[in-house]
Amino acid sequence: MDNPADFEAILRGPDAYRLARSALDMMVRYKVWPTPLNYELWLHYSANPKSALGQEIDRLIAAGDPFTEATCESLAATFLPKAKLNEQIRDAGDQLSRELDTVSRAIQAAHASSKAYGVTLADASTELAHNSDPSTLRPLVANLSDATRLVEEENKALQKQLQESTKEVHQLRDHLAQVRRDATTDALTNLGNRKAFDTELRHAHEVAERSGEVLTLAVVDIDHFKRFNDTWGHQTGDQVLRYVASVLGRVGAPPRFAARYGGEEFALIFPGETAANIHSMLSDVLKEIASRSLRRRSTNEELGAITVSASVAELKNKETAHTLLERADAALYDSKRAGRNRVTNAEGSPGEAAA
Ligand code: C2E
Repeated sequence: MDNPADFEAILRGPDAYRLARSALDMMVRYKVWPTPLNYELWLHYSANPKSALGQEIDRLIAAGDPFTEATCESLAATFLPKAKLNEQIRDAGDQLSRELDTVSRAIQAAHASSKAYGVTLADASTELAHNSDPSTLRPLVANLSDATRLVEEENKALQKQLQESTKEVHQLRDHLAQVRRDATTDALTNLGNRKAFDTELRHAHEVAERSGEVLTLAVVDIDHFKRFNDTWGHQTGDQVLRYVASVLGRVGAPPRFAARYGGEEFALIFPGETAANIHSMLSDVLKEIASRSLRRRSTNEELGAITVSASVAELKNKETAHTLLERADAALYDSKRAGRNRVTNAEGSPGEAAA
């Protein structure tokens, strides 16, 4: 039921009211504000609990994570962008089509008037060839001058119309670029979202396979984030996500790629870099994070330092992107099990330095 048309059909089908009730019941149970966006999310969940969105909501419920505004926004940006994107692209397409109509009408009008001007010139030329009476020259010249002025005015109007249309088209292009950015950005942290990460990993994997270049993947997860959230509240939890994201965004700047993969988990892609180098770089990042003491904005209370766990995995020969990610996930689990605040190499080489 990933097809928006199927979803629309369900909303008008025999199950519509049952699904609406189920969505609202769940929103009450999980303390989700009944905003239109949240309702849309939960309606999708009720209609298809096995979808990617359903699985992510199930994961959040199982982890006891709250459905904060930021979480819901991030879910919508990741799992509902298609419908929104389609709508925005359709709007932009309609606007573009109206703009093209206007330009086309203006060009047709200019063409008609330049044709009429050509006829006037031809008539004047015939008149001049057959009629040498100077008294008839005055109205002929006046006629030509009127026709020339008319064409000049129409040319000016056309030029103005084209300038306005060019401006509109540029604005539309910027708007579409923004829509595209929004659809691939995590609203809370401004890093790429999971969808963007999947696309980027697929691309990096293809390039690495084709070129034979090395490719490394890292996964980073905030330690005891749930406990932190429960102690200090979700708003402060969101700030911690933003802080870790700002550090990872810095080290994951292009040509690298950093994304919020879900909840408190981040993923980074390092094309052309070895796991050994990334391991050492991330160890420094972990030290930097652990040594910074955060403060609660509302009360200025000392929150203490937070730590993160990480893993790195280097692409093996003929390995799929999916398996690479699985190995990185497994190594992250090893980092957690070994006491957190450390980087583990996916190959599990002994003696990987703790941060
Ligand atoms: P933000 O609050 O929008 O801050 C953006 C950047 O402005 C910060 O990037 C930092 O460079 C600067 N900045 C903001 N407030 C202060 C301040 O009181 N002192 C100093 N020296 N610089 C400040 P940074 O450090 O990478 O943090 C990124 C985001 O992480 C922040 O966005 C905020 O959401 C969160 N964050 C970082 N540190 C703390 C903290 O101690 N407490 C809380 N509640 N959030 C923090």
